[in-house]
Amino acid sequence: MISLGIHGAAGRMGRRLVALSVESEDLELTAAIDRPDAPEQGQDAGTLAGVGPLSVPLTDRLADRVDVLIDFTTPAATRAVLQRCGDLGSALVVGTTGLTDDDHRTIDEAGGRVAVLQAPNMSLGVNLMLALAAQAARRLGDEYDIEIVEAHHRYKADAPSGTALAIAEAVCRATGREPDKVLVHGRVGDDVRRQRGQIGMHALRSGDLAGRHTISFGAIGEQLELTHLATTRDVFAHGALKAARWLAGRPPGRYSIADVLGLDD
Ligand code: NAD
Repeated sequence: MISLGIHGAAGRMGRRLVALSVESEDLELTAAIDRPDAPEQGQDAGTLAGVGPLSVPLTDRLADRVDVLIDFTTPAATRAVLQRCGDLGSALVVGTTGLTDDDHRTIDEAGGRVAVLQAPNMSLGVNLMLALAAQAARRLGDEYDIEIVEAHHRYKADAPSGTALAIAEAVCRATGREPDKVLVHGRVGDDVRRQRGQIGMHALRSGDLAGRHTISFGAIGEQLELTHLATTRDVFAHGALKAARWLAGRPPGRYSIADVLGLDD
């Protein structure tokens, strides 16, 4: 049995992770954590998730070691829990997005002490899309204009989405572009004509969309588009639970969802 903690257990993703972990025969939820001032503090995590009491109350810190902690919170909360997991020897799956370069360095450091898997998107389809986008960009060359459009629910805090950035980074790695030099976020102004090699990034926020990502490659006379549509957030929760099972017992290091799924870009 793998002991599991959920960081951000009162959140949208956290509640689905709690609910779906109950259906897993090899995972045992032993810790449910959320911010100290969360109004749900002290309530049973199972009741909050709508699956009935689990005798796991929501607490404000990870008190004891778990085999794996899954984090879907905020970058500041992720930074703090990376330290805590390192101290306790708990592996960590990080699903939180909006991470800065400094945050990534902190994850690398934590990977020196425990196994850490970070992925801005836990779905198989999106991770395959990263590989397909990289291949298309390499084959088509910079004659083809690349634009990435993402759409998410109205509550999403960060933009562009971590997944949109991951798609852009996969394309940049595949074609030798530097993200800092080629990413253009939205276009406003009198003279913002596209330059060769640019990658346009656009974010829509609307209703309850779980997540849609499109990368388009446009030339004179044709457009190639790859689109991934998440129809329920459970796809990310299932992916995170799969990652947790894979990570439990691994040696320290930084891992990706591509490692879990056996995908290369
Ligand atoms: P949410 O706001 O519903 O939930 C976040 C939870 O984190 C809240 O309950 C909040 O109280 C808690 N939290 C905030 N600060 C905390 C702290 N200091 N300590 C403990 N808990 C704290 O958000 P959500 O929709 O569940 O998304 C959470 C994160 O996961 C976002 O960054 C989102 O972009 C990301 N996300 C990633 C994927 C993926 O596949 N990687 C999928 C969906 C969402």
